[in-house]
Amino acid sequence: MAKKSSKKKVSPKVEEAHVLPLSVKKILANVRPTPMIENGLSNEDKIEKITEKFTEILEVLGLDLKDDSLIDTPKRIAKMYVNEVFGGLDPHKFPKMTVIENTMKYDQMIVIQAIECLSFCEHHFLPIDGVATVAYIPNKKVIGLSKINRIVQYFSRRPQVQERLTKQIADCLQYVLETDHVAVHINAKHYCVMMRGIEDTHSTTATSDLRGHFKTLPETREEFLHHCRLK
Ligand SMILES: [Zn+2]
Repeated sequence: MAKKSSKKKVSPKVEEAHVLPLSVKKILANVRPTPMIENGLSNEDKIEKITEKFTEILEVLGLDLKDDSLIDTPKRIAKMYVNEVFGGLDPHKFPKMTVIENTMKYDQMIVIQAIECLSFCEHHFLPIDGVATVAYIPNKKVIGLSKINRIVQYFSRRPQVQERLTKQIADCLQYVLETDHVAVHINAKHYCVMMRGIEDTHSTTATSDLRGHFKTLPETREEFLHHCRLK
């Protein structure tokens, strides 16, 4: 305990000089939006209303909500929607974002592979199970690596189309990192393709957004796409 506090006394000055907190409002204003309306409902209101509506849906399907196993399902779904799988609709849940000055002048590609990317298709409300590869070439700022996973997770936790999700992640990184050289690639299985419609359980969908050098320099592009293939 004593050791920890003495350590803390030394480090804050250094950290404060290099870590710049960013405003969530500004970040989200620079990310292409998910189509939304302002309905004035708090998260508690949303859980209450979704519980009511889901009760109706399950009753319309002919399910007996007095059964022990089903009795709490509407509330469980409502909480899951608001707090978990669609938590990315709530700006208050945006991950704490800090960037660090690129004092080491790192000027090569930074690639994060195999980022879990679980989302929900907004056309059918069924899961999208994907893997993202994200890269950037820093300018004056770098970011903690886990922050990139958190950005992917935040925008995934919305009803999505894969194309928009890919672009939202790229928009966010381009703004936060103040670099044009950003690349996002997502390869995903869509449960709406697997369980209904064509019922193809093997096909996957790949989307990418390559910007700056990743778009214009063939060797940079090829290096990134090579990392995507390795995933
Ligand atoms: Zn779908």
